[in-house]
Amino acid sequence: MQSATHSRPNADEILANLPRRSGVVPMFIGGEWTLAADGVTRDLINPSNGRVVAAVAEAGAADAERAIDAARAAFDDGPWSGTSAADRAALLFKVADAVDRHRDEFMRIDTLNGGKPLRETEYDAVDAANCFRYYAGLATKPHGQTFDVPAPSQTFTVREPIGVCGQIIPWNYPLLMAVWKLAPALAAGNVCVLKPSELTPLSAIRLAAIFEELEFPPGVLNVVTGPGATAGNAIAASTRVDKVAFTGGTKTGRSIMQAATSNLKKISLELGGKSPNVVFADADFDTAVDYALFGIFANAGQVCSAGSRLIVERALHDRFLGRLAERARKIRVGDGFDPQTEMGPIISPVHRERVEGYIAAGKSEGAELVCGGERLGGELADGNFIAPTIFDRTSRDMRIVQEEIFGPVLVVQTFDDEAEAIRLANDTIYGLAGAVFTEDVAKAHRVIRKMRAGITWINTYHPTYNEAPWGGYKQSGIGRELGTYGYDAYTEVKQINVNLDVAPSGWFSD
Ligand code: NAD
Repeated sequence: MQSATHSRPNADEILANLPRRSGVVPMFIGGEWTLAADGVTRDLINPSNGRVVAAVAEAGAADAERAIDAARAAFDDGPWSGTSAADRAALLFKVADAVDRHRDEFMRIDTLNGGKPLRETEYDAVDAANCFRYYAGLATKPHGQTFDVPAPSQTFTVREPIGVCGQIIPWNYPLLMAVWKLAPALAAGNVCVLKPSELTPLSAIRLAAIFEELEFPPGVLNVVTGPGATAGNAIAASTRVDKVAFTGGTKTGRSIMQAATSNLKKISLELGGKSPNVVFADADFDTAVDYALFGIFANAGQVCSAGSRLIVERALHDRFLGRLAERARKIRVGDGFDPQTEMGPIISPVHRERVEGYIAAGKSEGAELVCGGERLGGELADGNFIAPTIFDRTSRDMRIVQEEIFGPVLVVQTFDDEAEAIRLANDTIYGLAGAVFTEDVAKAHRVIRKMRAGITWINTYHPTYNEAPWGGYKQSGIGRELGTYGYDAYTEVKQINVNLDVAPSGWFSD
């Protein structure tokens, strides 16, 4: 169902606080606002209506190198890595407060640039501020250990910043993905070169303006807006970058891992998924239907942890599918600025065609299209809207069952017993997330413990907490973000031994 008309957003008003150079939104390098060295710009498009919202500097490899130089100087010669944890925490608490103060602005920037409904960008902005707050708090907590060793030695560890961190993020949560990377890295004393997705850089630029207002030392945060193949690859390959943290597709993750071998830099990879949502016949029916919808159609399915495979017990299948499809057909699809909108557009025409390609593949491979499956026209014809889509009667060899679609497309698989549910749940190359719905507590735990996935839920789908680790098994990634794990991922561990019996060792004769 399409949503009603609404007043058109005014891009100039929403972007009024963004810096400009010659009418272009610039990058933030070494504490200065700058255009690309070769002057190239990119028009950013609102995916809800195809209109240009702003022109942004399009970084090339040379601009990424400039940002790495600035970060290197800030880390090697600047004050940041030597500041006390308390001082870094104080600044990060101020960032959190500023994000809260500008919540409405951040929401509208991400809705304008990425199409997400305001109810989603509100969640992102609230969570972003809280993520800064969490890591500001964590900065001052104890991080080292002491060890009882069999010698007169005081032996202990300290955690130190890794150095220059390259951070490459996708378009599906523009503000939140930036913050998941920046907050722990900065709390631990690192400096950052952040490369947002070339499609959605505006909220990261607005965030950089806040850092400037708060007088972070130059070069501590650098934001490079440009494509992956040039700017992104330069960061991943640079021998002057100490760590690269990446969120994005599994294929891109592979290429970043290869580039990172140049200096064996530390890597964290948060990659794709094809996550199972297992529903047993004894589940609370309305709750399971509701979360099955939310699991796949939130953010139009453009979520790495989306519950894109519904694995339902045969005895419940018909009733469950009937209700699910009924509710999917009612989802109000439309412009994110319309308060009635429940599901927004696909990010770009290129990605829309990719999703449509999967829908065509599902049909030709013989899956049964239950609802959706088409691009929406009428007043939504200028945007990239696809109706909530469900495929039933699928089999494990179909592409729509094995590959990440990253759109509003749910595939349904059916099982007869617990063992089959687990086998189906684990039957892809991915292992990011998964859920199980049942009122049998012991069964819920048995199934979750057998699921090869890093983030799991029982009788819910999608809740994500700054306090708890996020990341995948198998080809869904390497390492964990968020929680104390996310902080540790931005530190080196140093062992320190203090001899408590200062005398020659006597190992060699005098
Ligand atoms: P993508 O891999 O195409 O791009 C992600 C980022 O990498 C962008 O900034 C892009 O410019 C950059 N990039 C592309 N090629 C590069 C290269 N060769 N070298 C360096 N950088 C490069 O992903 P996307 O389309 O922006 O996002 C969708 C993907 O992100 C999905 O697969 C989704 O599952 C994944 N994702 C994962 C998580 C997670 O936490 N696991 C969260 C969000 C999104």
